[in-house]
Amino acid sequence: MIGERQNSLNRVIQIKGEMKVLEAKLEQLKKELNMLRENCTHEFEKKDYIQKCIKCHLIESLHW
Ligand SMILES: [Zn+2]
Repeated sequence: MIGERQNSLNRVIQIKGEMKVLEAKLEQLKKELNMLRENCTHEFEKKDYIQKCIKCHLIESLHW
């Protein structure tokens, strides 16, 4: 069908564009989360072999 290839190409370009935006957003959110964790006065809750901060959800392994 005429136009079908063009349509899927347009969709590919659209998806790639959206992925780029989301990847940038993800990077920004990771940085923000890291900053929050750096400033957090952790309160850990022990669970099996890990402990998790109830405030920032940082997980640390208790295996040394
Ligand atoms: Zn914390």
